[in-house]
Amino acid sequence: MVLIYIDQAEQQIKKSSLEAISYGAALAKQLGVPAEGILLGSVTDDLAGLGKYGLQKVHQVTDSNLNIFDAKVFTQVLTEAAKATGATVLVFAHNLNGKAIAPAVAVKLNAGIVTGANSLPNTSNGFVVTKTVFSGKAFAQINIDTPIKVISINQNCFGVQTQDGAASVAPLSVSVPAASIKITAIHKVEGEIPLTEANIVVSGGRGLKGPENWGIIEDLAKALGAATACSRPVSDSDWRPHHEHVGQTGVQVAPNLYIAVGISGAIQHLAGVNRSKTIVVINKDPEAPFFKAADYGIVGDAFEVLPALTTAIQKSKA
Ligand SMILES: Cc1cc2nc3c(=O)[nH]c(=O)nc-3n(C[C@H](O)[C@H](O)[C@H](O)COP(=O)(O)OP(=O)(O)OC[C@H]3O[C@@H](n4cnc5c(N)ncnc54)[C@H](O)[C@@H]3O)c2cc1C
Repeated sequence: MVLIYIDQAEQQIKKSSLEAISYGAALAKQLGVPAEGILLGSVTDDLAGLGKYGLQKVHQVTDSNLNIFDAKVFTQVLTEAAKATGATVLVFAHNLNGKAIAPAVAVKLNAGIVTGANSLPNTSNGFVVTKTVFSGKAFAQINIDTPIKVISINQNCFGVQTQDGAASVAPLSVSVPAASIKITAIHKVEGEIPLTEANIVVSGGRGLKGPENWGIIEDLAKALGAATACSRPVSDSDWRPHHEHVGQTGVQVAPNLYIAVGISGAIQHLAGVNRSKTIVVINKDPEAPFFKAADYGIVGDAFEVLPALTTAIQKSKA
């Protein structure tokens, strides 16, 4: 059986989990086994409705110790759940929580793991999973030959796929250890769309000249309902907060639309954004390397292009 971890934030199932479910369901079909999900805690979403993405059953573990995400506790509970349900393949989204727990679960289950897979495994002769390596410059094909296998899948590589069907929902009884961390306060950044969950990202680089010019990035982001991001020198110079820095050493994003403004397109930047579905580059230098990775490009001065683009989008929305 393929068991898919259903990740949630504030009692809502994450979009990356719906993609992981679609992927796990397709893999289960390929292997001729059932696709089941495992939810730790509770959500406001309709769990039976997850049948629409290919799940036959949802196992749910509820306990007050699961109200906050504690990687140690979640690892322990998922390991027990995998054993109790007889899962042979575990699928996670390759997001922050998936990165924290999938490897630890694999260790506890003596399972081979591939993190950041890009496509369904080739199971015609073994169990060969493909992933990108060297900052997206090459592909590696890895055969997992342990009885239990763990895969985390990159966002936007498979898509959310729907079909007819409803899942059965059943409580799963496994022991839940006491939380090892205590959250004393949460300070949320108000009004911002989380970068890793955003469908659209507007990102600025050193071409913006200084933090005082970020209004044009924010205006465009607001018009599009997008999150804002930046290149590394921008956050290193304290023009923008570090959580906005994307790239090899920053956050890795895979939105439907990534708009890069005044960013040259260094390999280290591309490594964090090249899984975006559509890339639009705005740069005044027609030779900027980013244009080679772009689906659409505008050669022009950001200080002229952005206000015009924002106005055009606002008009078309109105
Ligand atoms: C180990 C290592 C890790 C790194 N990790 C990262 C990382 O994770 N993320 C990252 O981003 N970088 C990373 N870097 C840095 C990376 O190599 C580049 O130096 C950096 O991405 C460049 O940032 P930039 O494109 O904003 O600035 P620049 O390279 O200075 O480019 C600015 C661009 O703006 C354009 N421009 C200027 N004025 C305008 C205007 N008015 N209108 C339109 N365009 C304009 C210019 O033509 C130019 O292309 C890393 C480097 C190393 C060595």
